[in-house]
Amino acid sequence: AKNNPNEPEFMQAVHEVAETVIPFIEQNKKYQGKMLLERMVEAERIITFRVVWTDDAGNTQVNRGYRIQMNSAIGPYKGGIRFHPSVNLSILKFLAFEQTFKNSLTTLPMGGGKGGANFDPKGKSDNEIMRFCQAFMTELSKHIGADTDVPAGDIGVGGREVGYMFGQYKRLRNEFTGVLTGKGITFGGSLIRPEATGYGDVYFAQAMLETKGDSFKGKTVVVSGSGNVAQYAAEKATQLGGKVVTLSDSAGYIYDAEGIDAEKLAHVMQIKNVDYARISEYVKKYPNATYVAGKRPWEVKCDVALPCATQNELNEDEAKMLVANGCICVAEGANMPSTPEAVAVFQNAKILFAPGKASNAGGVATSGLEMSQNSLRLSWTAQEVDERLHNIMLNIHSACVKYGADGNGYVDYVKGANIAGFVKVADAMLAQGVV
Ligand code: NDP
Repeated sequence: AKNNPNEPEFMQAVHEVAETVIPFIEQNKKYQGKMLLERMVEAERIITFRVVWTDDAGNTQVNRGYRIQMNSAIGPYKGGIRFHPSVNLSILKFLAFEQTFKNSLTTLPMGGGKGGANFDPKGKSDNEIMRFCQAFMTELSKHIGADTDVPAGDIGVGGREVGYMFGQYKRLRNEFTGVLTGKGITFGGSLIRPEATGYGDVYFAQAMLETKGDSFKGKTVVVSGSGNVAQYAAEKATQLGGKVVTLSDSAGYIYDAEGIDAEKLAHVMQIKNVDYARISEYVKKYPNATYVAGKRPWEVKCDVALPCATQNELNEDEAKMLVANGCICVAEGANMPSTPEAVAVFQNAKILFAPGKASNAGGVATSGLEMSQNSLRLSWTAQEVDERLHNIMLNIHSACVKYGADGNGYVDYVKGANIAGFVKVADAMLAQGVV
């Protein structure tokens, strides 16, 4: 903590990993005395930079951009870019640290990174978004590359923003390479990449439910968020027979007791991805649903909960409410949405709980598949990518069970994910020596 003052989110993420990995190191001589965890918490490189751009009124605007190059032991740095006013060093370091373990779990050759800016895309025109992305990439382009560091999307960065950033990189470098993932299909993107994080989260939850001989069929599902991850988590949960009854944004949540089916979800996608509007719009078209302002959806009774919005969006009291209401499975689609106290509630109640670094790894895994397709200069079918994604999620589930099963039928997926993620990175770091 003294090396990283005022970085509570980073401390939280490191603490959660240390709690499970330190006892593992103590039991395994190979990993002792090498300062492995101490090295992993220190980013290989952190770049912060000024982003200056002009708004539609002609005013000059200044933001701060970042790229955290956390760990390159097992592959080029890889991790998303976040545009949100809350972005700071602590949040990006927590995300880059988690990303290192997550990428290791995918079994693909990707190191850990994360970046972003304290830019607020809300209320900005399309031209302002474009100019900001171009200004951001003008500096970032000096630090990334298809074999060095390959950014992707995250909160506030979707296909539109990736497209603008890719265009600027190409313009500046005069090269067409797979330097970003999440690209449009016409210029090197992968089918199923937009769906991958949400689908992967549900595949993971399905694998957890199967360990209990159960499935999504007939389950009531509460989803938070209404962005990229939430939309496709809702779609896949519905396809597997679940009934999704909520979605949310930072202003409140909608509750639709009849279920948010495919047609209603298409309307949500129009609201969020085309109109860039608020989830409250939903009830205008579907008046049987209700909008609850200023609250999060965890008070709604459910069997399965999928937190897909942001970090620390589910606290101890809300976790208690979920358990009391009969929730049997929580699979994080967002990064670190549950507070440590909430995780403890789920684990003490012995319900199925998957941490984001395991259950939301499908997004970056499919980004890894996009990188492979770019290198091969070909594109796989949607079915082929989806099958690979599904298999990767099942493999991550097995890795968590391998290191997290307590022998009495309970699986600590937090412990399993942390240790499985650690082992591969640690082995690579040991093999590559100390410079
Ligand atoms: P989007 O920007 O598409 O959606 C974010 C959603 O979360 C919106 O509904 C947004 O509401 C809500 N949200 C954002 N910030 C807050 C906040 N401070 N409080 C409450 N709600 C908030 O992002 P994604 O769907 O891509 O990302 C969601 C989560 O999933 C993040 O934790 C991200 O790191 C994680 N993730 C994403 C991956 C991906 O492939 N996209 C991969 C792995 C993890 P509002 O519009 O009001 O801001």
